Amino acid sequence: MSAIEEFDRSLAPAEREFQARVAAFAAARTTQIASASRAQIWMGDLLRDACRQGLGGIEVPVALGGLGLGFGARIRAAMALAKADFSLAFAFINHHSAALRIALSGSGAAREAWLAGLLGGDLIGCTAMSEGGAGSDFAAIRTTARKVDGGWVLDGEKRWVANVRGCEIALVFAQTDRLAGTAGIACFIVDLRQAGCTRLPEDPVHGLAPAGIGGFALHEYRVRDSDMLYAPGQGFRMAMAGVNKARTHVAAMACGLLSTALHEAVAYASSRMAFGRPVLEQQGLRWNLVDVSLTLENMELLTLRATRLADDEGTAAVVAAAMAKKFAGEQCLAGVAACIQSMGAVGMGEPRGLVSKLVAAKALCMADGTTEMMNERIGASLGARQLQAGVAVSHGRPPVASAGGFRAVRLGKDAKGATTAEVATLDNGELPPGNVVVRIAYSTLNYKDALAITGQSPVVRKFPMVPGIDFAGTVEHSADARYQVGDRVLLNGWGVGETHWGGLAQRACVRADWLVPLPASMSERSAMCIGTAGYTAMLSVMALEARGIAPEAGVILVTGANGGVGSIAIALLSRLGYAVTASTGRLEEAPRLKALGATCVMDRRVLGEPGKPLQKEAWAGAIDCVGSHTLANVLAGIRYGGAVAACGLAQGMELAGSVAPFILRGVALEGVDSVHASFARRTIAWARLARELPGEVVEANTREISLAQALVVAPELLRGQVRGRVVVDVNR
Ligand code: NDP
Repeated sequence: MSAIEEFDRSLAPAEREFQARVAAFAAARTTQIASASRAQIWMGDLLRDACRQGLGGIEVPVALGGLGLGFGARIRAAMALAKADFSLAFAFINHHSAALRIALSGSGAAREAWLAGLLGGDLIGCTAMSEGGAGSDFAAIRTTARKVDGGWVLDGEKRWVANVRGCEIALVFAQTDRLAGTAGIACFIVDLRQAGCTRLPEDPVHGLAPAGIGGFALHEYRVRDSDMLYAPGQGFRMAMAGVNKARTHVAAMACGLLSTALHEAVAYASSRMAFGRPVLEQQGLRWNLVDVSLTLENMELLTLRATRLADDEGTAAVVAAAMAKKFAGEQCLAGVAACIQSMGAVGMGEPRGLVSKLVAAKALCMADGTTEMMNERIGASLGARQLQAGVAVSHGRPPVASAGGFRAVRLGKDAKGATTAEVATLDNGELPPGNVVVRIAYSTLNYKDALAITGQSPVVRKFPMVPGIDFAGTVEHSADARYQVGDRVLLNGWGVGETHWGGLAQRACVRADWLVPLPASMSERSAMCIGTAGYTAMLSVMALEARGIAPEAGVILVTGANGGVGSIAIALLSRLGYAVTASTGRLEEAPRLKALGATCVMDRRVLGEPGKPLQKEAWAGAIDCVGSHTLANVLAGIRYGGAVAACGLAQGMELAGSVAPFILRGVALEGVDSVHASFARRTIAWARLARELPGEVVEANTREISLAQALVVAPELLRGQVRGRVVVDVNR
């Protein structure tokens, strides 16, 4: 049984039936496909026809008018269509992807406006990522999106986009904030028929013209808010999230293409006689075609493996897709050339169409990532794959072991079960599993770290442990497509320093999903001066903003004002134009709090005891780092329609208040969790910190210590003797 037959058995009956319908569709239109291919014109009519036959919306949920099939069905459709024509398959899948993205991520209004048209074939879509100076280097896109009232204004040029010759809808990726880097990339639904959009003059790509490859320019093009598909912070991630699947179906199309070329060659070689017998019986020629058939089988195996892994998030899926695409692209090119060779001059003739297949095979070495990029993806994983299989390949040590060990705070347990803490040199081979190794520059000492180091609370759940809930540094090894060696990254939360070795060390091995690219304008030290506390402060500010609490609404109260979160929250709020009241137990620090931006300072004792369920409406909103009675009193003093962002528990975990503020004043209580916040929220928060928090504020609030000093400062921090942030230079 061939790899494909075996795969088809794993498909659901509806998926097998769909695949048969796709093959029948292509078979019934052989002449039309061949003539569009010969004339090198866009196959838009065939796309609309396919949609009208109910073949669009493969993976779009049934509830939204689609077929609700799996990715395997898409892959088999790509193979079947590419057997008929590579460009047709390319254009069809591109259209389908646009419809699927809108179905899965579009606003209600966007789905309403576009989805039925896309599924029914009245509208054809495309996804516009590439630009003149940004192909594989997608993060370098220069198309901009500027926020205006009720929407966005787009400017820029997109090139090498399938279907652009005649399609109506484009999903356009654009940069909303250059300083934010990838976190600024968003995606918008653009109607290419509207004013402000011009299709660029023909710049045909040989062999792919029937896929409608082209470009367009946007000038002061206005998009409604409801047509923002991915917000800043999500755009890059969503584009990259679709990349493994895109690469896998390019590989699938290569399989379809080569299978037709091989079929042609074998059919010809079986009937063409030379020296009294069919040329297929000439050993030299036959063995060439045997090699092609074996290569094809391997291409299919790799493609189907990548298909099975496509919904996984991790490295395995990235590597499988890159391997499938690299192998399929290179081997398809060589395989079609071998098929032409076996047919002699006839193979070069126009009617056979093999030369255009050769050109298409070359094009697919570039589509959705060049072969060189695939090499990089696979190459990046080499080190980490050894890391994972360290025992077998490097005697229990990951490859970084050759660089020796690294210094770290190591926590253990003594004979009586008490926590021990020391600075030790650890072996690289002891690093925990992960797919990215980071050379750490700075970490911080947080309350949780202090609890872990002193053993005062069961923060650490397994020993030995390296504490440190955050760090910033540079990638040393990466098996994940999103990070390259040399990238600057930071990490907060995810149980690092509690269940997974953390940042109070010179090196860490973690999951790529936990990392955030360091904003370009931020140093590793600044990032850690801000640390988890500053990042939590920004998440808290964002929580109030999301509740519509604007500076004009009134005063914002910040409790635990002298702490890490409180201090930075005051600085952020005041720079955003809010009036801030700071609640503190250290009134002697009032001048510092005022310098940070507090307009008023109050004694925390006012809020620290049980109080009335409803009190004077004093504050429009609050950021509460303290919990317990303080939070109950804060809620009781919030104005009608106000909100409290609750992020801390310095006074206590309990909350003994009443529901009166909620049901009588419509007050909202927003929980803030920094540990498992989504990648999008993290990147937005860090991009905003890079922009909105002046360096001098961060520095003024910070003290730097060495790794060894962390052991001394931890108990001081728990005794409340530490003010502001404590940054740890792990390399001294
Ligand atoms: P810090 O220890 O730096 O500051 C806490 C502040 O709370 C102190 O400086 C003090 O401020 C105040 N405080 C301390 N004890 C009491 C008490 N008994 N009653 C009232 N106020 C008190 O901590 P951070 O600023 O780093 O963190 C603040 C809180 O937020 C902590 O509870 C922490 O665990 C939590 N946190 C939560 C995160 C999340 O994801 N939700 C992330 C990070 C932190 P002052 O001297 O001004 O009175």
